[in-house]
Amino acid sequence: MTYMKINVIEQICYNSCCFGGKNKYSNMVEKLSPRDIYSDIKPEEFVELRNIYNNLWKNLDLPENLKPRLQFKAMLSNMAFSISDYTIYIEKRLSPFKMNYRNKTGKNESILRHEIEHVRQIWDIIRFVGANNMAEEFKNQNGFNIKPSLLKKMHEIENTLGRITPNSAEYNKAQQYLNAFKNYPDTSKYYGISIKELIEHLRYKNNLLEKQARKEANKYKPTLTKTVKVAIKEFFKLLSY
Ligand SMILES: [Zn+2]
Repeated sequence: MTYMKINVIEQICYNSCCFGGKNKYSNMVEKLSPRDIYSDIKPEEFVELRNIYNNLWKNLDLPENLKPRLQFKAMLSNMAFSISDYTIYIEKRLSPFKMNYRNKTGKNESILRHEIEHVRQIWDIIRFVGANNMAEEFKNQNGFNIKPSLLKKMHEIENTLGRITPNSAEYNKAQQYLNAFKNYPDTSKYYGISIKELIEHLRYKNNLLEKQARKEANKYKPTLTKTVKVAIKEFFKLLSY
C-alpha cells in the first residue's frame, strides 16, 4: 500500500506519468518513422488539431483556466496526458497526411476526448485527496517537495472545482479513480515485446481509468464509411499537389 503511494506520487512528479492513447510496444515504431516531419513550428495540421481541441473543450463546458497545453513530442503513443507538465502531448512524427486524415475523420477528436477524460479523472483524484495532502504525502515519502508548478496547478484545480467530500455525488467515483490510479501500470519503461510487457499492457487496458476514457472516446469515433471517404479524398488531394 505504502509502496503504491510512493509510486503514484513519483509517477506524477518525476516519471511524468502519461496516459497514452494507444501504446505500441515496439522499437519498430521508432525505426519506421525516423523523420522529424514537424520541424516546422506551426504546420497547418497542428493548427487544425488545436482548433478541434479548443472546440471540444468548449463543447464539453470545461473551465478554460484548467485546459492543459497541447504540445508535440516524439513518443510511442498517439497522444498522452502528462500530469507533471500538465500537458497533452501529440506524437510529432506522424505524417501530415495521417494527421490531416485524423483531423478530417474525427479520429483526432476521439483521441483528444480520451485524453481529456484522463484530465478529468486527475481533477477528481486531486479534489478527493487535496492538493496539500498530496504534496505533504510526497514530501514524507521522498524527503523533498513536489514541483512548484504542479502544486500551483493542483491548488488551482481544487479552488476552481472544490473539494470532493463524503457528501459529494462524485465521492465513490473519485475513490475508485484513486485506487485505479495507484494500480495504473507504468508502461513508459517498456519498448520491446516481452511477456512482462504483455501483462502490463493487459493491466493497462483493463485499468478503470483506461476503460472509462475509452468509453467516452468511443462516442466520438468516426464511422467506417466516413473514414474511407476521407481517406480517398485526402489521397487524391495529395496526388494533385
Ligand atoms: Zn488512456
